[in-house]
Amino acid sequence: MDTIGITKLFKKLGQAILDLVFPIACLVCSVDGTYLCQKCHDKLARLAKQKCLVCQKPSPFGKTHPECRTKNSVDGAIAALDYKNRDVQKIIETFKYNFVSDLAVPLSELLVEAIKSQNLSEYFQDFIIVPIPLHTRRHNWRGFNQALLLSQTLSEHLNIPLQDQLVRRHKFTKPQTTLNAEARKKNIENAFELSGNPENKKILLVDDVVTSGSTANELAKLLKRGKAAEVWILTSAHG
Ligand SMILES: [Zn+2]
Ligand SMILES: [Zn+2]
Repeated sequence: MDTIGITKLFKKLGQAILDLVFPIACLVCSVDGTYLCQKCHDKLARLAKQKCLVCQKPSPFGKTHPECRTKNSVDGAIAALDYKNRDVQKIIETFKYNFVSDLAVPLSELLVEAIKSQNLSEYFQDFIIVPIPLHTRRHNWRGFNQALLLSQTLSEHLNIPLQDQLVRRHKFTKPQTTLNAEARKKNIENAFELSGNPENKKILLVDDVVTSGSTANELAKLLKRGKAAEVWILTSAHG
């Protein structure tokens, strides 16, 4: 057997083991054959109102309120789902921690739906998509960057170019979910560095979920220091 054959065999074995541990069934209603069936997909809790990522209060089109804006903040944030909903949490966590990369497709399609319902797809046409990077150590452990998977499908659906070499995560940080808002800010401080030139670029950062916004705002600060023209964050869910 050649190397490609062996790789294929291992992939098949990996999938078989994954199916055993984690059978393919709808995470909401348990129907067989899909991680998210059409019925549950349609009923899944959408984010009722887009929110300003600085004060977390509703804002039209998810734009950061003029009075909340600083040179360190994102210009806007769009999310598809409400992270306070338990089914949404379960889906995002399964995607992220149980390595169910298949969920990238429905999760990014839901995000496309949110962008279109806000009439923003035209506005984003001259942007580039930049997945929020993982530290190499975490990337190696998880085997994929969930933000990159979402970005790939988004890029295809919205016809916006993807650039995943613009920023790098050089500080290994604790998972943000274990920390309160103030500690999150400290934890993520200076975690990223530029690995490309963002000058005059309009950037759509992509991640699976946003809560306090400290990661997105930390990246916005870095990109704006590098003279990026505009920075938004797109996520499957908002907490
Ligand atoms: Zn279902
Ligand atoms: Zn605000």
